[in-house]
Amino acid sequence: MALDADTLDQLLLTIRRFVDERLIPLEAQVDRDDRVPPGIIEQMRELGLFGLTIPQQYGGLGLTMSEEVKVAFEMGRTSPAFRSVIGTNVGIGAHGLVMDGTEEQKQHYLPKLASGEIIGSFALTEPGAGSDAASIRTSARRDGNGYVLNGTKRFITNAHVAGLFTVFARTDPASTGAGGVSAFLVPRDTPGLSLGTPERKMGQKGAQVCDVIFEDCRVPADALVGIREGIGFKTAMKTLDRGRIHIAAVSVAVAERLIDMALAYAMQREQFGKPIAEFQLVQAMLADSKTEAYAARCMVEETARRRDAGQGVSTEASCCKYYCTEMVGRVADRAVQIHGGAGYIADYHVERFYRDVRLFRIYEGTSQIQQLIIARNMIRAAC
Ligand SMILES: Cc1cc2nc3c(=O)[nH]c(=O)nc-3n(C[C@H](O)[C@H](O)[C@H](O)COP(=O)(O)OP(=O)(O)OC[C@H]3O[C@@H](n4cnc5c(N)ncnc54)[C@H](O)[C@@H]3O)c2cc1C
Repeated sequence: MALDADTLDQLLLTIRRFVDERLIPLEAQVDRDDRVPPGIIEQMRELGLFGLTIPQQYGGLGLTMSEEVKVAFEMGRTSPAFRSVIGTNVGIGAHGLVMDGTEEQKQHYLPKLASGEIIGSFALTEPGAGSDAASIRTSARRDGNGYVLNGTKRFITNAHVAGLFTVFARTDPASTGAGGVSAFLVPRDTPGLSLGTPERKMGQKGAQVCDVIFEDCRVPADALVGIREGIGFKTAMKTLDRGRIHIAAVSVAVAERLIDMALAYAMQREQFGKPIAEFQLVQAMLADSKTEAYAARCMVEETARRRDAGQGVSTEASCCKYYCTEMVGRVADRAVQIHGGAGYIADYHVERFYRDVRLFRIYEGTSQIQQLIIARNMIRAAC
């Protein structure tokens, strides 16, 4: 345990109150304005949310996976856009550095990421390389005492506010696969780094993505993560592996919120002279959602517990990401159905969540990629 039980309880209670009193009332505004108010981001800094998973010696809380999952169950009860503000520092924007950075690199950047003074961003995907991330073409050419980066990264979360990018680029020009990829720490103000226009998205309004473009962008040799070429793809995969349990936990929390809303609506909405909750076909939708969300919660908790116990959970983490993100899609669909026409109208929260949760099945490894990982690991274990 990173925190004693009382401190953890206090943290969870504080986050619960913050979500209920500050975030949930702002959900519609954030969806409309496509922007999380700066005052909320400042409050997140004061609550220490940017440093939840960064080790304590670098100023974070160093939560274990089980503790992180508990926080995600709380933060996930509101629009995912709020979680996205801290999401890259808590996950993919910091953990490449945590896992594979040198001591100097960690001391230089992690305290600032933990405090939220800078936002970290993870730049792997390219126009031609998504699921097949090992095929990236952004190049990092050795030049004197440094590297020169050229290429375009696509759909990069929080790029517009990032102070630090973990960028994956090919250091071995002769290679085509994972072995020639290295990771670099590139500050936002590095000459040759520019941003594209923010994308217009289906949901998760308030969370921004855009291109990150490198044109003869020169970085010093000590920008190389771990000061080792050729380990970047492994760094990226380890980072994503860890994030899968987190996304799964958020999916569980959103599902539970949707179930609460669907149940409340079903109990007050009357048709044929009685609440629709009394109709068994509506009950079936409620029961299916409840059962699936409960199963999802259990698998997330168990996988987090096993990871904290030092067990390898690559397969289980992918099972969690796959099942929980698909599950919340089904739960959102049923919630809209239970709301009838009202579920299609923007005044009701379910319409927004229906759009928001669609992304969970796509980023940080699509459902199909999770299936491939699970089956590949099964076959490998059986050989
Ligand atoms: C809002 C948003 C935020 C994002 N944030 C980030 C970020 O911060 N950093 C970052 O690096 N990336 C980010 N991404 C990119 C995201 O991780 C990719 O979009 C995702 O990995 C899928 O890649 P792709 O879009 O190129 O789809 P593709 O790889 O082209 O896939 C298209 C379809 O083909 C399927 N498919 C592909 N290969 C196979 C296969 N071998 N077998 C079966 N089916 C297959 C996929 O599952 C999918 O259904 C973000 C994307 C979005 C939309």
